[in-house]
Amino acid sequence: MVYSTDGLVLREVAVGEHDKILTLLTPSEGRITVSAKGARSSRSKLGSATKLFTYANFEIYKKGEFRYAKDASITEPFFGLSDDIERMSLAAYLCEIACDITGESVSSVDVLRMTLNSFYAIAKGLYPLPIIKGVYEIRAAGISGYIPDLEGCAVCSEKTPKSGMLDVMNGCIYCEKCAEKHLNAAQKEMYEHPDLAERIIYCRMTPNTLAALRYALFSPPSRMFSFELKEKEEIGYFSHACEKYLLHHLERDFNTLNFYKSLF
Ligand SMILES: [Zn+2]
Repeated sequence: MVYSTDGLVLREVAVGEHDKILTLLTPSEGRITVSAKGARSSRSKLGSATKLFTYANFEIYKKGEFRYAKDASITEPFFGLSDDIERMSLAAYLCEIACDITGESVSSVDVLRMTLNSFYAIAKGLYPLPIIKGVYEIRAAGISGYIPDLEGCAVCSEKTPKSGMLDVMNGCIYCEKCAEKHLNAAQKEMYEHPDLAERIIYCRMTPNTLAALRYALFSPPSRMFSFELKEKEEIGYFSHACEKYLLHHLERDFNTLNFYKSLF
């Protein structure tokens, strides 16, 4: 069976002398593995379309469980991603997240769209990298089913508190007043149960970072970065909270994230 699909190259692995195995993120089939025979040969028509971070239309031949790329034409090469090591390593981290939160035969339209939008923003230098990273992380957590309740303080009745604290483990927020009481109780709990210390994570939220977090989670993909967070300190709070939230709920670490962070 031969068919065509759009696909974003999330991973490429060299095999033998001339071949590659690709991991593609596609809209309707989700994350798929495709063999690109001869793609590393200089004469191959698959060459540039099968490079990491490339968005292309692939003609795929399916035989049994295996897929082979017959032909490909580039839609968007995202050249700007390879211009510097920070951009490239952030894009690599987003690819690793995308691989983690998608599966085969599961529609991945949302993940594909937010990955393409993020690649575009990184390549064009449209927003600070910690903002792009944070938005992607918190949306990835939401898509994976871990949406924090940001509407009201989890302890008192205050609706939409403007600032306070994000409780990562419980996926909720506390207003300023309740945050202080809750922190005291949590410290006592950590003292009594040191094994819990790693799982109890609180992130400080200012009115702007909390508003940014709400926006980043619930805005349509086409406007996912259209909010303003200017203060460096607040960008730091936002980025830290998004990262902690995703890693905690996916219960894993990412080598590409460790590399990205080693650059700063
Ligand atoms: Zn409260």
